[in-house]
Amino acid sequence: MNLDVPMLYTKMKDLVIASTKVAHVQLGNSLEHALLVLIKSGYSAIPVLDHSYRLHGQVSTTLIMNKILGLERIEYEKMADYTVDEVMTTKIARMKYSEEFMKALELSINHPFICIEDDDGVFQGILTRKSILALVYRHFRQLPFPAVEGQTSSSDAT
Ligand code: AMP
Repeated sequence: MNLDVPMLYTKMKDLVIASTKVAHVQLGNSLEHALLVLIKSGYSAIPVLDHSYRLHGQVSTTLIMNKILGLERIEYEKMADYTVDEVMTTKIARMKYSEEFMKALELSINHPFICIEDDDGVFQGILTRKSILALVYRHFRQLPFPAVEGQTSSSDAT
């Protein structure tokens, strides 16, 4: 990329929410467990990992609800019949640290967050659309780029 825009050379590591702070579920987990994690975390979608922390997909409240949706009611009792593997989507936004920030910018158009993995597919964390937008905003306002942990509210962006 031959553009003289410092923002494009941002180290993604500086923006990523580390894996230890990301709510997730594991392959084989029940839908009930996944729904609990989703509701308790307050997020509508979270990553699905295996026991070695490798990234497999994402599960969301909508995907779970669609699976147990009957003709006339939500059939909650059906939750016991499925595991996360059967409802997760594998069509997710995923990237490696070695890739260009421009790719993250493009992926964030259609994805609220991007999963970051290493060369072995081990989950490293997520890059949210919010942190990317905050960076773009600060670029145009010519403000210093903050680390991800400190840029949580819109009120501190001015
Ligand atoms: P945000 O931009 O902070 O609203 O985050 C966008 C999306 O990223 C959320 O809806 C979640 O799906 C995901 N997300 C953000 N932070 C976390 C987290 N700590 N754990 C799991 N998922 C997260």
